[in-house]
Amino acid sequence: MSDTIFGKIIRGEIPSKFLYEDEHCIAINDINPQAPVHVLVIPKRGIPRLVDAEQDDQALLGHLLLAAGKVAAQLGVSDAFRLIVNNGAGAGQTVFHLHLHIIAGRPFAEGHLAG
Ligand code: 5GP
Repeated sequence: MSDTIFGKIIRGEIPSKFLYEDEHCIAINDINPQAPVHVLVIPKRGIPRLVDAEQDDQALLGHLLLAAGKVAAQLGVSDAFRLIVNNGAGAGQTVFHLHLHIIAGRPFAEGHLAG
């Protein structure tokens, strides 16, 4: 497992409320939310960046998307949420343990991704 803050959270070394947990991933609230709902879906296996995922991770990557949908439904935002993966420091990745951001509860501009 990669030794990042998320590894410590997953191992229970840093107490954190899990909104969701299954065999392969957890979901926690982001410590610095950018929207009323800002949740991180984090695989227990510590892949640093999306591009570091390998063919063997195919099922895990699909699992994360399904888990994100379940968490969004659990939080009551299944009609309007965004999933974001920052890959690499240049894209804003700060924790090098792959994770999905679920963003919801704020208006989204139509027709582009930046809003
Ligand atoms: P990235 O920028 O790597 O895509 O996202 C990392 C996210 O992790 C950031 O949104 C940041 O606020 C969040 N984060 C960093 N440290 C912690 C922490 O200790 N606990 C939680 N819950 N979120 C964290």
